[in-house]
Amino acid sequence: MRTAKETWDACKGALQVQVSKSNFETWLKDTEGICCQGKRFVVGTPSTFAKEWLEKRLRSLVVKVLMGITGQELDVQFQVRPGQVSTHQGQDSTPRQLASSTAGSRYTFSNFVVGDSNRLAYAASLGVAEEPGRHYNPLFIHGGSGLGKTHLAQAIGSEASDNGFQVVCVSSEQFTNEFITSIREKKTEEFRGKFRNTDVLIIEDIQFMVGKPQTQETLFHTFNALHDTSRQLVLTGDRHPKAMTAIEPSLSSRLSCGLVAQVQPPDRQMRLALLRARAEEQRMLIDEAVFEFIAQRCVETANVRELEGALSTVVAHASLLNQRPTLEMAEQALLGMPVADARPATFTPTSILKAVADHFQIAPESLKGRKRDRRLTLARQIVIYLVREKTNCPLQDIGKLLGGRDHSTVLRSYHKIATMVNTDTTVRGKVNHIATALRA
Ligand code: ADP
Ligand code: MG
Repeated sequence: MRTAKETWDACKGALQVQVSKSNFETWLKDTEGICCQGKRFVVGTPSTFAKEWLEKRLRSLVVKVLMGITGQELDVQFQVRPGQVSTHQGQDSTPRQLASSTAGSRYTFSNFVVGDSNRLAYAASLGVAEEPGRHYNPLFIHGGSGLGKTHLAQAIGSEASDNGFQVVCVSSEQFTNEFITSIREKKTEEFRGKFRNTDVLIIEDIQFMVGKPQTQETLFHTFNALHDTSRQLVLTGDRHPKAMTAIEPSLSSRLSCGLVAQVQPPDRQMRLALLRARAEEQRMLIDEAVFEFIAQRCVETANVRELEGALSTVVAHASLLNQRPTLEMAEQALLGMPVADARPATFTPTSILKAVADHFQIAPESLKGRKRDRRLTLARQIVIYLVREKTNCPLQDIGKLLGGRDHSTVLRSYHKIATMVNTDTTVRGKVNHIATALRA
């Protein structure tokens, strides 16, 4: 008989491959199985805010996954874990000041697997953590989702903090929220104090500052204040700062004036190394054939998170059956995972327009028209998102493609979908489906 904790851990393993990376990290990672009484399965959350979010957004998926794992129909109840501070939304956005090595200790240099795809970023991060402000300032790490940017950023934070430096680490959203709150509450001095009196400032996912000129301006001044006094800046983003077209040129040139290092998708050898390291870390005995299979199953473009998710799924499967993971079991466990797809995609603005129209079963011309209803609007926004993500088409031309929409509408739509892809499973499903159709 498995404990509630074990059942929930298996459930988390399965959920990790089903929700977006940021949702998993934000809402699920720190939850815990507390007990199962009759048909009621209780899950502990770290905050009221997380509890409410999970209840509202993830309940039905969780029920489904739990049922798959336990074979029983259970009712899920989320509850704030005893001993946790209840937080509300506003407080959640306080930047985390890393005070001790325990902060973010899941992400260290020692458990970071180094290969051709990330060697430069790793070496630079190590240098920065040892001597902040000396070598590469700013250090800008960019690359696709799940490729280790946060891991490196957090490792820099913990290591620098262990070396006695003061570290402030925030996401772009937190930075923006803090900034807005400081204006509203007339506490701009405090804001400046917090971000300018630190040895190391880490700001993650800079792409979310796109379209926020005031936040960008504030970052610009913060940047100058720190840089001028040789304090270290570390930034991460989904692409090269120069490729962030909607970031002020004066800011993007500063962001790229130090070292810009890219993390790339792991090649096969690196995927194997990652899987072995993860299994070893968790003291799991797994056949080499299983690693080979998972590494094969996760395409070149797959990120490390997906790789880990696939491994967790196999392990959860094995633990349910009380057996060691075998190749057969791995095949069974990953049956539902999308198959490696090596066919080249044909992403051109017109092919995307057509694929979206097909998906929504509407005429491509209607996407160029003025008529607006929910379906048409969503379809247009997805066209914009995909064209911007998959092609080099400039914003103006995307506007033209859709019958002459202006640059700011295009940008707004892009950000809307970029956010929804992370928060809304229906939209993510549609976007993935269309991208897959484009490979056919
Ligand atoms: P990003 O911030 O780039 O989206 P993360 O840093 O959150 O990605 O990485 C996703 C997951 O993959 C994390 O659990 C992280 O620890 C793991 N990971 C990524 N790259 C590596 C690596 N080279 N070695 C070990 N773990 C890694
Ligand atoms: Mg990240």
